Amino acid sequence: MLGLMMDMPLLVSQLIRHADRHHGATEIVSKTVEGTIHRYTYRDAHKRARQLANALKRLGVGPQDRVATLAWNGHRHFEIYYAVAGSGAVIHTINPRLFPDQINYIGNHAEDKVVFYDTTFAPLIDKLKSQLKSVKHWVPMNDEYDRLLDAQSDDFEWPSFDENTAVCLCYTSGTTGNPKGALYSHRSTIIHAYASALPDAINLSARDVILPVVPMFHVNAWGLPYACALVGAKLVFPAQHLDGKSLHELFESEEVTMSAGVPTVWLGLLNYMKEKKLRFTTLKRVVIGGSACPPAMIRAFQEEYGVEVLHAWGMTEMSPLGTVTTFKAKHRKWSAEERTRLQNKQGRVLFGVDLRIVDENGRDLPWDGKAFGDLQVRGPWVIKSYFKAEGGDPLKDGWFPTGDVCTIDADGYIQVTDRSKDVIKSGGEWISSIDLENIAVAHPAIAEAAVIGVKHPKWDERPIIVAVKKPGQEVSKDDLLRFYEGKIAKWWMPDDVVFVKELPHTATGKLSKLTLRQQMKDYKLGAG
Ligand code: ADP
Repeated sequence: MLGLMMDMPLLVSQLIRHADRHHGATEIVSKTVEGTIHRYTYRDAHKRARQLANALKRLGVGPQDRVATLAWNGHRHFEIYYAVAGSGAVIHTINPRLFPDQINYIGNHAEDKVVFYDTTFAPLIDKLKSQLKSVKHWVPMNDEYDRLLDAQSDDFEWPSFDENTAVCLCYTSGTTGNPKGALYSHRSTIIHAYASALPDAINLSARDVILPVVPMFHVNAWGLPYACALVGAKLVFPAQHLDGKSLHELFESEEVTMSAGVPTVWLGLLNYMKEKKLRFTTLKRVVIGGSACPPAMIRAFQEEYGVEVLHAWGMTEMSPLGTVTTFKAKHRKWSAEERTRLQNKQGRVLFGVDLRIVDENGRDLPWDGKAFGDLQVRGPWVIKSYFKAEGGDPLKDGWFPTGDVCTIDADGYIQVTDRSKDVIKSGGEWISSIDLENIAVAHPAIAEAAVIGVKHPKWDERPIIVAVKKPGQEVSKDDLLRFYEGKIAKWWMPDDVVFVKELPHTATGKLSKLTLRQQMKDYKLGAG
C-alpha cells in the first residue's frame, strides 16, 4: 500500500516562489563589482528571475542545456541561479581562479551554451571566446544584462518535472588530472538545503542576515543561496570585495549575523580588525570549512570577538555539507577549554549522510577517536558518478571514498588528520600534518604554515614546516620548534623549519601542498 500524500517533486523554483510569497519584503543587498550598493527584495529577485527565464527561452536555452557563470556573489548571479534552475536548464558555475586551460577544458566538457560574466572577467572572456565552441551567447552582467531582462515580461510559470532532473554542475578543482563535474539534482539540492538549515547544522532562520563570503562558484557558496531562500533570511553579497576592510564595513552596515568562508579569508579579516582595534556589533556566528580551521582562529573569534565558530567539513562531491561541530546536551558541563578542543574536530554528520572509516582492506574501523582510516560517505546529496562518467565508477561497495583520513569518536565527531595524498608516513606510522600546522599557526609570529613529508633514509618520511611570518614579527627555527614541546609526541617533532615569503594556494583558497612539494623538490633534510 502506498502512502496517500501528494506527489509533488522537490524543485528549486519552489524556493524562490516561497521566499517571494512569505518573505517578499526581505532584502537582498549586494555590493556591486563597481563598489556601489544595490538593494532589492526576494519579491524583486523572483520577478527578475522570471524575466530572465523568458530571456533564456529567447536565447534558445532548452531543457538541460548548460548555462555558465563566471561571476562573484551578487544579485544578478542569484537571479541566474533561479532562472536557469527553475526553467529546467543546468547552471554551471565556473571558478574564475582556475587556470585558463582548465576553464577551457571544463567549458568544452560541459558544452556551455550561454556564459554570463561579471565585467571584471572581460580580459579572461576575450581569451575564452575563440576556445569555447559550444557557446552561442556571451552576456556581460551589467546594463546589457539588465536590458535583456527589461525587454521581457515577468509572466512565466515555473515548469514541473522529475525532481531527479539535473540542476547544477560544479567541477572539482582537479589538483591531479582534469577537473571532474559533480552534477546535482533538484531533489539533492532541496534536501541539502533543508538539512543545512537545521540548528545542529548551520542553523539558519528568517531572523538572520547572512553574508556568504564563500563564492557562488565554490560549491554554490556551500548551498547558501538555496538555504537562505528556504528560511527567508536577508542576504548580503560582497562581490570581489573580500579584504578585511570591505568585509568589516559590510558586516556592520548591513547588520550581518552570520557568515561562511574558508580560513584564509578570515585570516585577512581578523588581522585587519586587530590592527584597527575594531569590533563586530551584530555578527553571531561564522561557518569555517573547506580546510581545517586552526584552533587559534576558533579562539580568536570566540574569545576576542564573541562570535561562535561552526567548524564544518564537506566537499564538492557532497553538495558540499557533511559534518558540522555543534555541541550535545552533555557538553554543557564541559569546561570552555574542553569545548574549544571539541571544536577543533570537524563535527557530527547531518542526518541524511552516513559515514564510516575503513582500513586499506575496506574493513570498518572503530569509533574510538584514535583509529584513523579512509573516510567514506553515502547519502542523497553525495555523488554516485561524475558528469559524463569521467574517471569511471567512483564508488566502493556503494560508498563514496572522500580521500580524507579521519578518526571518529564515540559521539560520532570526525576529525580529519589529512588528505590521503598529504599523509606523512614515518617509521610505518602516520603523522597528522593538520595537527602540526595548527600548532605552528598558534605561534604569535606565524601567519600561515604548511607541513609536508620529505624523504628520510631511515624513517621513510619526516615532517618539515614551511611557514610565513607575520609582517614585522621575528621567530627563529629553534623558537618555533620549542613551541611544539609538550604539545605532541616526541617522534612527531618536525625535523626542520623553512621560512618563505608566501605559500601556494589552490583556486578555492586552500594550501596547495602539491605545488609546495614541487617547489620543495630539491630540498634535502640536513642541508639547510
Ligand atoms: P577542492 O579541493 O576542489 O576545493 P573541495 O572544495 O570539494 O575541493 O574540497 C574538499 C576537501 O577539502 C575535503 O575532502 C577535505 O580534504 C577538505 N576539507 C573541507 N573541509 C575541511 C575541514 N573542515 N577540515 C579539514 N579539511 C577539510
